[in-house]
Order: sequence, then C-alpha cells, then structure tokens
Amino acid sequence: TLSERLGGVFDRLRGRGALTEEDVNEALREVRVALIEADVALPVARSFVKKVKERAVGREVLKSVTPGQQVVKIVHDVLVETLGGGEGDHELNLNRPAPVPILMVGLQGSGKTTSTAKIALRLQKAEKKKVLMASLDTRRPAAMEQLAVLGEQAGVKTLPIVKGQSAVQIAKRAMEAAKLQGFDVVMLDTAGRLSIDEQLMAEVQEIHRTTDPAETLLVLDALTGQDAVQTAERFKERVPVTGVVLTRLDGDGRGGAALSMREVTGAPIKFAGVGEKIDALDVFDPERMAGRILGMGDIVGLVEKAAQEIDQEKAEKAAKRMAKGEFDLDDLADQFVQMRKMGGMGAIMGMMPGMGKFKEAAEQGMGSKELARQEAIIRSMTKKERKNPKIMNASRKKRVAAGAGVQVHDVNRLLKSYQAMSTLMKKMGKGGKRGMAAQLGQ
Ligand code: GDP
Ligand code: MG
Repeated sequence: TLSERLGGVFDRLRGRGALTEEDVNEALREVRVALIEADVALPVARSFVKKVKERAVGREVLKSVTPGQQVVKIVHDVLVETLGGGEGDHELNLNRPAPVPILMVGLQGSGKTTSTAKIALRLQKAEKKKVLMASLDTRRPAAMEQLAVLGEQAGVKTLPIVKGQSAVQIAKRAMEAAKLQGFDVVMLDTAGRLSIDEQLMAEVQEIHRTTDPAETLLVLDALTGQDAVQTAERFKERVPVTGVVLTRLDGDGRGGAALSMREVTGAPIKFAGVGEKIDALDVFDPERMAGRILGMGDIVGLVEKAAQEIDQEKAEKAAKRMAKGEFDLDDLADQFVQMRKMGGMGAIMGMMPGMGKFKEAAEQGMGSKELARQEAIIRSMTKKERKNPKIMNASRKKRVAAGAGVQVHDVNRLLKSYQAMSTLMKKMGKGGKRGMAAQLGQ
C-alpha cells in the first residue's frame, strides 16, 4: 500500500532536521506510482503530487512520528481536501419552492435507476420529503417498470406510465403532477447509452433546459476507473453537473477514480453506492475514501484487506502442520506477518465487536511494532534453530539477540510464547480446529 511504500522511503530520514526537496521528491515518485495504480488519472496525479510537495518541503521532521508517517499524513490531508470541498458540499441543495426537480444522468448500467430509488428513499426517510420518481427512459422497454418496481420496494411513488410520450413530455408531466399532488421533490431518471453519443447529449440537454433542476447528478461507476473520468468530462461539457454519485464502491474499485472525478467535474461527490440493495447508499465521506486510496483503510477496509491478504493456502498448510504438532518458528513468523498486515493484534481486536477494551492491551503486547520485533528475532535464527527451537542454548540466544537488536530476555520471552502456542496448537489440532490465521481469514 501507499503508506507502506512511503514508510520505507522515509524511515531512512529519521533524525534529520527538515524534509529536503530531494527527500520529498523520492517519496513523491512513490506517491505518483501508487496514485496511478489506484486508478487516478495522470494529470490529476501530477497536480496532486505538486500540492503535497509544496506542503512537505521544509517541514520539520517531528520526533514522535516517523517522516514516513508524516508524509502519509500530508498526503492524507491533501486527499481529503481534494475529495472534500466546502462544508455542506455533500448535501443535496433543495433550497427552492417545491416541487424541486433532481435530474439523474449517466451512461447505461452506471446505476442511475437504482441510485434514483436509493436517493428518493433516503430523502423520504431521513428528511421526511414527499418524493415522486419518474422514468424518462423511453429507449428500454423495461426501464420504466424497473423504476416502478424499485418504487414499490422503497415505498416511493412513481409517475404512472403513459406509453408513447417523449422524455421531455414525461418530465413536464411529472412536474405538473408533483405540483398538483403536493410533492416536495421530483427525481427524474433518464435513459443512458452504452457510450456517449450526440443524441443522448441533446436529449439530456433538452430535459435540463425544460426542467431547470436544482441538482443534476451524474452517476458514475467506480469500477470503470478512467472511463468514468472521460464520461464525466463529456457530460460536463453539455450540462452543468452539480454533483456526482459514485456507484459500485462495494466492488474492488480502487477509489482513485473518485479523486479524478472531483478534479475533472469540479462537482462534489455527494453519494456513494455500496450495493444492489435499495438502502445501500452512503453519503460520500472524503476521509473514508482517502483512507481507501491510501490503503490505510477504515474498519471496513481493514476487514476486507485482512480477508484478501491472508494467504489462505499458506494458512491451511500451517494449520495442518500445527495439527500434527509440527508448528515451528517459521510458521510462527508467518503468523506474525499475517497479523501485522492487518495492523497488529490491536487493530484486529478493534474490529471485533465487544473487544474494543482489549485493544490497548493487545496493541502493547502484539501491536505492529512488537510483532515486527518478534519477527526480527526469528529471522536472526538459523534455519536449524527455527525448525528445532529446543537447541536454543545460552550462546545461541545471545547471538540471536545481538542480531535482532534486542535483549536475551526478549528472545526468552519469544521462545516461551512459542512453547505456549505450540502446546495450544496441538490441543486445537486434536479438536480439528484450524490455525489462527485461517480462522481470522474467514
Ligand atoms: P442504469 O442503467 O444506469 O439505470 O443502471 P441500473 O440502476 O439499472 O443498475 C445497473 C446494475 O447495477 C443493476 O443490476 C444494479 O443493481 C447494479 N448497481 C447499481 N448500483 C450499484 C452499487 O452501488 N453496487 C452494486 N454492487 N451494484 C449496483
Ligand atoms: Mg436505468
């Protein structure tokens, strides 16, 4: 992840007075590569890196954190600012006499119809608005029914379907019906295309002109990455987009597209679609997205990461060996690596409901730092010693301690906990249970 990369580059700078331009440049090369890997458009990555650089060069190196952490923090802050924007920016602007039109635009399959229903439900539930939805999609025969079905599920009214009307005619009819029936908000769901074409753009433009929406929300599929950025550019040329709805953030999109989107459209991302269900909609959270791009992750991200990064096969192999009582120090080191990937025992505890209070204790005993230390001890042993820890005598311990930069009693402590664990594993093995990593990985 980006934070790990930066950690590596900058930890060498520990103890220096200030971050020099050269130091920062080296780290920023990493930042740029990581951003591009996260699906951020090249020009956006460039201007982003420039901003970070301006802020980082000459910054005093703090004693309490590593320079790596410090730059990660700067990168994080710039990310949040870039994704964020002003206060209230992520709210819908409905400050208008009712009925207030909201226009949904985007490519086919981006999630317009689904998002229309999600937002309508949210407005109705959280803001007690009376919402009417109307499908202006005259292309696909099933499109209007799709919205009607979603409306039924969500308990949101939809405009009765009248065949043979144009999109603009339906839009006008929706506004009139809403006025007569006292609706607060009218959500207008438009037809998409597989790609941008002139006909689509002309239609969207005409609907926009006739309805003069308070919000024009561009729906973009986060999984399409750079294509979504291009789509945003095309739409922005034709209609004044006031906000973006980024869908499929529940997928493995890397989130970098979000950053580009903000730069390209200048419009804030207002909502994030996080699933197919009608309530799978989040108000866009720049902090969380920044965490996702950086790979630092929030709790959800951490769990996902844990699931991905635990090498299932390795874990199962280790579990089998454990069950047979063959668990050696190499296996233990592997377990440490897995745990460290998840942010140490403290982070793991923090993710488990009801375990929060043990978090601190776990962090001290099995935090990332401690895990790294224990790993270092194991790595300082010879292969023979790792396979057969019983041979560890006083002189071997002394040698290992020196190699790992720790005291002999640290080595003793590790060996003791290995013994305890190995005994436990054998017991668990008899019960047919799986290893620690395998269990955490489920
Ligand atoms: P439209 O053509 O733009 O109206 O797209 P639809 O709303 O019909 O959505 C296309 C497909 O994407 C449907 O199967 C939706 O259930 C699905 N979909 C929409 N939003 C999300 C989302 O946030 N996450 C996931 N996983 N699927 C979504
Ligand atoms: Mg649709």
